[in-house]
Amino acid sequence: MKHQLDWSSYETAGQGDAYAGIPATGGDFAKAVAVCISDRLCQRKPKGVMCPSYRATDEALQSPGGRVLALKAALNGEYGPAPFADPRLAEAMDLCVGCKGCKRECANQVDMAAIKIEWQAQRNAISGVSMRDRLFGGLPRWLGYSRLLRGLVRLRNRVPLLARLLERTLGISASRTLPEPVRRPYAAPASDGDAAVDTARRVHLFVDTFARHFEPDIADAAHAVLRAAGYQVSVLGPAADDPEPDRALCCGRTWLSLGQVEAARREARRMQAALRPALADGVPVIGLEPSCILSLRDDHLKLGLGPEAEALAKQVYLFEEFIAREHDRKRLQLDLKPLGTAKMLVHGHCHQKAVGAMKSLRKVLRLIPQLDFEFVESSCCGMAGSFGLDAEHAQISMKMAELDLLPALRAAPDAPLLANGFSCRHQIIEGVARRPAHVAQLMRDALA
Ligand code: SF4
Ligand code: SF4
Repeated sequence: MKHQLDWSSYETAGQGDAYAGIPATGGDFAKAVAVCISDRLCQRKPKGVMCPSYRATDEALQSPGGRVLALKAALNGEYGPAPFADPRLAEAMDLCVGCKGCKRECANQVDMAAIKIEWQAQRNAISGVSMRDRLFGGLPRWLGYSRLLRGLVRLRNRVPLLARLLERTLGISASRTLPEPVRRPYAAPASDGDAAVDTARRVHLFVDTFARHFEPDIADAAHAVLRAAGYQVSVLGPAADDPEPDRALCCGRTWLSLGQVEAARREARRMQAALRPALADGVPVIGLEPSCILSLRDDHLKLGLGPEAEALAKQVYLFEEFIAREHDRKRLQLDLKPLGTAKMLVHGHCHQKAVGAMKSLRKVLRLIPQLDFEFVESSCCGMAGSFGLDAEHAQISMKMAELDLLPALRAAPDAPLLANGFSCRHQIIEGVARRPAHVAQLMRDALA
C-alpha cells in the first residue's frame, strides 16, 4: 500500500500488547489503526462527548472503535483486493467529521480524523475526486475570483430552484444556505513601521481563507488588539519566490479534509516558504481559525514536509493562546473595559480543544473585567467544514448540533455567543439565527 500521508511516526510505536492486532497490510498506517485496543470505551453509556457520529446514530459502527474494526477487516483482506473502494468501509468512515475527539479523549489516542484523510485519499486515487469535493476543497483557489463566486453563491441562496438543481447535480444540500464571500476581502493595513523593533514585540498575523474572504472584521479586530497591546504586526504574505505571488496563503485544510493530499501539500509548502523568515527570527505566527492552526501544528506533520514543519508547528499560536502566553509572561499591556453584556455562552471548536486552547480562551476571557461566561459542554457542532453542506449529511449534521449545542443556546435566548470556528458560527446561525463573535472581536470591543 502506497501511503498518501506520512505515517512513519507510528513505525516504532507498535510494541506491546496493544499491537497484537496489527492488520496484515497497510504498514505504518495499519499500526496507526491498531492503536485502538477495542475496549469499546468510546461506546459506553451514558455517552461522553467523544464521538458525535456515534452519539447521533447510536450505532457501534459509527464510533471510533467501530471504524477501527472495519479498517482492520479491510486491511486484512476481508473486503477484497480494493478495500478502499468498498462500500462497507465507506459506510464506517462516511460520518466521521474529523473532530479529533478520539485523539483527544481515547486513552490510546486513536487519530481517526487523520485515518479518515488517508482513507479518503486512497478512495480518491481509485474512484477520482467528485465535482463537489473539487469545489469545496478548492475554495481558497476559487475565491481568487471572489466577485464572481459571491454573485453565484448569493444567487443560489436566493433562488430555491437553483439550490434544488445544485442538490441534484452536485449534492450540495438545498436545505442549507452557503456562506457568502464579502464584497471586499481583507486588505492588510500599511506596515506598522519600524522593522527593527525588538523581536519580542513583533508578530506575524496569518489571515486564513475564511477570515480573509468571509469575515475580515475578525482579522481587523485581531490586528487592532495586538497593536493596542504594543506589538508590531505584519500580515503574512507569500514568499518572494512563491509560484502564485498574488494568491493569499492558505494552510491547505479544505483540500486535506477531503483527501486531496497533493493539493494540500502544495499549499503547505507555500506556507512553509512564507514562514521560513519567521522561523529564523523566532517571531510568533498568530492565527485565528482553529482548524487552520491545527493543520499547521498537526496535519502538516503528516505531509512529509521535513523537520522544518515540526519547528514551525511550535511557533504557531491561536490568537487566544498568544494573548494568554503574553499575559503569563507579564508582557501584555492591554487596558480593557467591561462590556456590560449578559452572561456569554462559549462554544469551543473541536480543533481548539484538540490543540488544548480552551484553557487559554478561558484565561483571555477573564481579562475582560466583569465578563460572565460559560463554556457549553458539547462535541462537534456537526458542520465540520463542508460536511454539513452535503446533501446526504445535512440532516445528521443538524442532529449533531441538536445533541447539546443548539438546545443550550436556545435555553439562553438573550446570551451573547462566542465561537471561534468559522463553520461553528455558520452552524449556529443556521440553527438558532444568532451570530456568534470571535474572541478577537470581543477583545477589540473591550479595548478601553
Ligand atoms: S477507539 Fe479508543 S476508546 Fe474506542 S475502542 Fe478503540 S481504544 Fe477503546
Ligand atoms: S474524529 Fe470525531 S467523528 Fe471521527 S471517529 Fe473521532 S470522535 Fe468520531
